[in-house]
Amino acid sequence: MKLKNKLLTYLFAGAVIAGGIVGCELIEAGAGKGMEAVETSADAVLDRPVIVLDAGHGGADGGCVSVNGIPEKNINLSIMLTSRDMLDLLGYDVRCTRETDVSIHDKGIEGLAKQKKSDMDNRLAVINESGAVLAVSIHQNQFTDPKYSGAQMFFKADSPESSALADVLRERFRIWLQPDNERETKPVGDELFLIHNAKCPAVMAECGFLSNPEEAAKLETPSYQQEVAMVIADSINCYVSRKRQGGETAAENSI
Ligand SMILES: [Zn+2]
Repeated sequence: MKLKNKLLTYLFAGAVIAGGIVGCELIEAGAGKGMEAVETSADAVLDRPVIVLDAGHGGADGGCVSVNGIPEKNINLSIMLTSRDMLDLLGYDVRCTRETDVSIHDKGIEGLAKQKKSDMDNRLAVINESGAVLAVSIHQNQFTDPKYSGAQMFFKADSPESSALADVLRERFRIWLQPDNERETKPVGDELFLIHNAKCPAVMAECGFLSNPEEAAKLETPSYQQEVAMVIADSINCYVSRKRQGGETAAENSI
């Protein structure tokens, strides 16, 4: 079975069994148990937790540029929109900082620097005024040496929950897409405005390197963008489910 189909089957197994949010462990435990799984998982149906997805950059701010000349902002948006749809179907109340190719700065502000500041302030307001249980900001990486590749998670320093969310994202990227990825999650401070100032657990997901020709080519295809998006949706669902169950949020190697 193609990876995308596997991911879809896995994600929707939860939606079908529980009619909403269900822990990944419950899906796993329920596999092959028939109706027993339905009864067990029904307890896991919960209110719709608010989560915020941020597609990095937008409008005049293209972010970094791939080796093929594709701006990061487009890839971020495409991934975010699919994650949004998946999480909506899984029972989350998804808020997005942007859903089109725009900067969300206040009207009337002139100059790129001031627009960028306003844009970031408004993105932060979406996160902090939504009552979100978590926020994930989606970006792509770039480095001078083209040999580097692979996803990496940056979490809000001194926030154990942010660290746990980053661990789950790292785990799911490794399980589904990049088994050889050894990149550690990294804490960040005020150099990452949005993550640092978020009131909820927050992670910036650098999904891959646009400076690596092989990875850039993949990240530019809608099919791989959808796979990455589903991994992000799966990660968020696992993190929330484990937390709601009161169990470990730490990575466990199971799908
Ligand atoms: Zn970026």
